[in-house]
This record gives sequence, structure tokens and C-alpha cells, in this order.
Amino acid sequence: MAAYDYLVVGAGLYGAVFAREATDAGKKVLVIDIRPNVAGNVYTEDVEGIHVHKYGAHIFHTNNAQVWDYVTRFATFNRFTNSPVANFHGELYSLPFNMYTFNKMWGVVTPEEAAAKIEEQRREAGITEPANLEEQAISLVGTDIYEKLIKGYTEKQWGRPCTELPAFIIKRLPVRLTFDNNYFNALYQGIPVGGYTAMVENMLEGIEVRLSCDYFANKEELDALADRVVYTGAIDAYFNYQLGPLEYRSVRFETELLDKPNFQGNAAVNYTDRETPWTRIIEHKWFEFGKDAEGNDLPKTVISREYSSEWKPGDEPYYPVNDAKNGALYEKYRELAEAETKVIFGGRLGEYKYYDMDAVIASALAKAAEELA
Ligand code: UDP
Repeated sequence: MAAYDYLVVGAGLYGAVFAREATDAGKKVLVIDIRPNVAGNVYTEDVEGIHVHKYGAHIFHTNNAQVWDYVTRFATFNRFTNSPVANFHGELYSLPFNMYTFNKMWGVVTPEEAAAKIEEQRREAGITEPANLEEQAISLVGTDIYEKLIKGYTEKQWGRPCTELPAFIIKRLPVRLTFDNNYFNALYQGIPVGGYTAMVENMLEGIEVRLSCDYFANKEELDALADRVVYTGAIDAYFNYQLGPLEYRSVRFETELLDKPNFQGNAAVNYTDRETPWTRIIEHKWFEFGKDAEGNDLPKTVISREYSSEWKPGDEPYYPVNDAKNGALYEKYRELAEAETKVIFGGRLGEYKYYDMDAVIASALAKAAEELA
């Protein structure tokens, strides 16, 4: 008999949720992670009282009441509302695309005027059935906004022309004919008070966790410890890239502690021109200290510039490149994964999917329910 019912590889959101559910169903679970800490890419690190999102900014938002009820068992959420500012060569615009953006771009005042302007630009571009990100963007917001707020940012972020990217990526962003700078169309939104690391630690309470533990270096030995394995790393890495590597985008973070209370006055500023080398600057304190007075009580601030790059071995994979070519390769890996009857593949890397946090949690809950039934 194996010592554990489940070995969970990866202590990120998928792994932590699955481990919690299995443990609560009476199973014995061992969680391992190669990093010296839990929480995967939602990990937050305390720097001078500021929770720094070390592997990229994470803003929790969901329309799924079951997921919201679930996460709020492990953390209290603040009322942070994401409203990024776009900086195009020093011109500032509101995001997502809404009446404030249209007013600044064209001087239009009413929703009818904004809709007419978008319609005119869409008609001039002659797009009927958008086949890629560029066509999708122009048909949603017109050419001016595409040129100033989408094209440069997207090409830096993905390292590919917008004509070669799938349309669904831009549909993540709302387009509104109202004065509303809330980036997400979600019923529930916020940041866990105390940081994401504390939330994941709460999920893993009472569960055995081994950190700095390299799964592939001791795979046979670790697999033998459990009846079933939940693997949340990259699916192509699991199979030693035998069908060739899937493409990912990686991000390099240049993080600085500054001796001033307020650098940019907002959590996220996106640099949407092609010339600025970074995609965005995150000022971490504003995720938590939402008011000027509170934020300025802390004399320092931490900022991270994000530089996007093509993933290569040794980098952290962040974004799957969900185009047709990678989709076809992923299908082949998925067939191999299905033959591994002892192993469940889950999460953004395990399923090669541009998952938001709430979708990862919903997927782990569904898998756990199926598995533990
Ligand atoms: N995007 C853009 N301009 C912006 C912000 C986003 O063109 O100022 C596009 C870009 O293609 C990006 C996509 O919208 O990849 C999705 O953005 P989101 O903010 O959801 O990306 P994430 O936060 O996951 O990096």
C-alpha cells in the first residue's frame, strides 16, 4: 500500500485546491513544489509592508458564486477594483475601453457619438468576420484605439504580429459605452488581505508540504509514494519535450524599492506604444492601500517593470501561446497524458490554457469532485 492517496506536484492554486478537497474527503495527501515557497505564481512577498506580486500581478475576479464562496473561506478580500491606465508616448487613456477612453481619443461626449465613430472605422477597415486579433480589435473599437492602445502592447506581450494571434485574447477586455473604468465584468473582485501566499497557506493547513523538492529529479521514488498523482507543471516538460516544446511567453520583472510614497498613482500602467521596452509597470502598494492617504502613510513603494519574452529552457513559463500550431501539438501531448492513467494534469501549465485564477479553482473543484465521488 502506498503511503499517500495523492501526490500533488505544484503548490499553486490548482494543487492547493485539489489537496484541500482530497484531504477534507479523508484522503492522505503530499504536496511538493520545486520552489522554496507555496502559492505558485500567485506568490506574494512582503517587502516593507507591501505584498509584492513576485510572479506578476494577480487580481481576483469572478462571476462564479461557488468559487467566490470557496476563496473567501481562506481569505478576506478587499475592495480593489482594477482600472489600469494606458500610457501611449505620454498620452494617458482609461482602460478598459469605455466612454472616458472614447472621449479622450475623439472628443466624443455621448454613447451614440462613440458608437458611430467605432462603426465608421470598422466600416472603413471592411471587416465582416474577424479572423485574428487585429481584425477582432478593429471591429470592436476601431482603428485609432487599435493603433494606440492595442497593437504595440499586444505585439510586445506576445512577440507576434496581431494578425497571427487568436481573436479570443482581446475579447478578455470589455468594451463599454458607459463611464466605467472597472477592467472586469465580474460580480466579485478583490485582493486577499494579507496577500495570496497567506491565502494558499490557509488552503494547505494541516497538509504535508515538501518545498524545494524537484519532482523530475526523484520521479520514480515520489510516484511510488502515492496511488495517484496530480501534476500541475508544464505538460510538455512532463513528457520531456518528446514531441517538441510548446510555446510559452515568459516575463522578466525588474523590481525596485523606491524612496517615495507614490510613483504612478495606480496599481497598473500599461505602456501601449511599441517603443517603450516594458509592457507595464505595477506599483504593488495600490493593490492593498487603495486610498491616497493610506498609501502615502508608507514612505516607500515597490514597482515592477514587466518585459515579455519568448520562453526558453530555464525561464518561467507564464502564458501559453494558444494559436493553432500549439493547439495541435497540445492535443498530441493530451493523448499521451490520457495514457498516464495514474496522473491527473491540471492548471494553466498542465492544461496549456490561458486560465484566470477563478477558472483554475473551478476546474480543480470539478476534478476533485469527479475524482473523490
Ligand atoms: N491588451 C492591449 N492593451 C492593453 C491591455 C491589454 O492590447 O493595454 C490586450 C493584449 O493583447 C493582452 C490582452 O489584451 O494580451 C489581454 O490582456 P489582459 O490584461 O487580460 O492580460 P493579462 O493581465 O493576463 O496579462
